[in-house]
Amino acid sequence: MNRKAKDMPVIAIGGFSIECNSFAPNSTSLDQLRSENFALGDDISRDSAGTSSEFAGAWDVLTALPVTLVKTALIAGTPAPPLAIDAFEFIKNEIVSRTPENVDGIYLMLHGSAYCREELDPEGALLKALREKVGPRPFISISMDLHAHFTQEMHNAVDIAVAYRSCPHIDLYETGAQAAQILHQAVIGNINPVTYVERIPMVVPPAKHDNEFKPYGSLMNLCKEIEKEGAHAASLLTVQPWLNVPDLGWKSLVVYDSKKFDGVSAAKKLAAEAWSIRELFMEDTTLSVSDALTAAAQDSTLKVFADIGDATNGGSYGDSTELLRGLLESNHDMRAIFTITDPAAVAKLWGKGGGATKITLGTGGKSEYNESVECEIKVLAECDRKVIYTHPAAKDVTGSPGKSLFVAISHPVSQIFAVIHQNPVRVIDASLYELHGVNILDYTLVQAKSHVSFKAGFAPLTESYILANTRGPTTADLLSLDFSLRTIPTYPFDL
Ligand SMILES: [Zn+2]
Repeated sequence: MNRKAKDMPVIAIGGFSIECNSFAPNSTSLDQLRSENFALGDDISRDSAGTSSEFAGAWDVLTALPVTLVKTALIAGTPAPPLAIDAFEFIKNEIVSRTPENVDGIYLMLHGSAYCREELDPEGALLKALREKVGPRPFISISMDLHAHFTQEMHNAVDIAVAYRSCPHIDLYETGAQAAQILHQAVIGNINPVTYVERIPMVVPPAKHDNEFKPYGSLMNLCKEIEKEGAHAASLLTVQPWLNVPDLGWKSLVVYDSKKFDGVSAAKKLAAEAWSIRELFMEDTTLSVSDALTAAAQDSTLKVFADIGDATNGGSYGDSTELLRGLLESNHDMRAIFTITDPAAVAKLWGKGGGATKITLGTGGKSEYNESVECEIKVLAECDRKVIYTHPAAKDVTGSPGKSLFVAISHPVSQIFAVIHQNPVRVIDASLYELHGVNILDYTLVQAKSHVSFKAGFAPLTESYILANTRGPTTADLLSLDFSLRTIPTYPFDL
């Protein structure tokens, strides 16, 4: 089959990017996505998913070339609880129906770890539907997060797949640009790329998915070396670990021309290297909440408290009360600030003025990560604006906390403050706090909701952080979660 395009190839571009967490309560609606980064057809622009996104990278490559672009749909949500099935069906239909049948190439910015309770492999279903519509001729190229769960269905449908090589993720733009460059070379007939995937039977907690952690950084460097040796792209998917799916596991992935490079051997070599150091990722460097607070109270400089059990950056709902309960039970002379998703509390307090009010935060039962806690609070400020992240990898990306309140919580010794908001939102930088004019440098302790990404986001303010061994849907203790759908033996569960 001749897959080479005519002189002015037609390339469809779009994206569907959301990282979901199977274990998080609630679900994510289409309305929530509409309030974030959402554009259809001609409303799509270079910066629709953020100024440094994969889409922006692909856009800059493709708009500089003699191609005709067809903009389909670009929907990029914040990491979140499982996507409602009707929201996914809407997105799938928009992308597929807006992609012309006679297209020569397709670029999609995907995250790769979407999840619906009724559809475990949304990206696979989307790509399958797309391939069925356009047939086998057009090249399909996708960019992904390195936490993608790249399924067989996805592999069946795409020719080119490229993922980030950095964590914290700071190479989104370059990854999108690379996926677009390879696609264009394929479309004009200069190369004939295929993607080989090697499954690695391991899943590890993400605290050491960090290029600063030498063994992980070396694996990422190995990807770049494989590219220097002749692959079009090499990636290592270290997977979003909180997905309850049959074949959860790391994957190495090499895009290559079979006549020019041995991509299979390269992918197997990368996989073997990762497997050989699996145990290094299991070392626990977290502190209990109470030890974390004691450590933070040693002096008055700012430290980030990484609430890893309820990391909204890993798709959690953001309703943990573990830090709040720890603060209420301790007696440290310090200033602390945290966030909580609690729409009922917002409804109760919104517009009611600044008097002291008794309220319950959290909705969980006794001993759950989100156990409800009674406290006395005073509302200091109200706000109904969106968050514009300052994180280097999410620059100008929008988050939608809904209505949010800045409150002070009564305590005999500590000064405790919180931002209570309606919807889950990422806390990978100070932007949610700054919505309320808070200067984080006035605090001893600020809560972040991620395992690794917060380091880059809070770096302009402090590089001092504590990983807290909190529980919740993004716990580091993977063995404590109910992976009921897992079918293939995988380290550390059963290998
Ligand atoms: Zn990621």
